[in-house]
Amino acid sequence: MLIYQCAKCQQQYAKVVSVCAKCLCLKLKETEVADEGKLVTWTTIRRAPAGFLVNAPYDVVVVDLICGLRVTGRLDQESIPPRMYARVKRIATEEGSPIFSVMT
Ligand SMILES: [Zn+2]
Repeated sequence: MLIYQCAKCQQQYAKVVSVCAKCLCLKLKETEVADEGKLVTWTTIRRAPAGFLVNAPYDVVVVDLICGLRVTGRLDQESIPPRMYARVKRIATEEGSPIFSVMT
């Protein structure tokens, strides 16, 4: 999974930023990290906003990646149901957001 990391203080970001919020450095580099992590929490969206109606119901998840970065994404609809601290793996990215699946 591609993340962005400050060249000066190593702060990590899930999305591209133009300046590091921690040290104001302007140099951020793309870094490839492992796609796996731990499910921290989730919520099921049953009344989806426009643009996501066809996906409803779906789970929005918060995942702590192995690299330590906390990211938000969605759970794949073919995944087994979420459970606390389950191991998950990113299987795709849609419109910049990671799609995770619970590992068995
Ligand atoms: Zn920094």
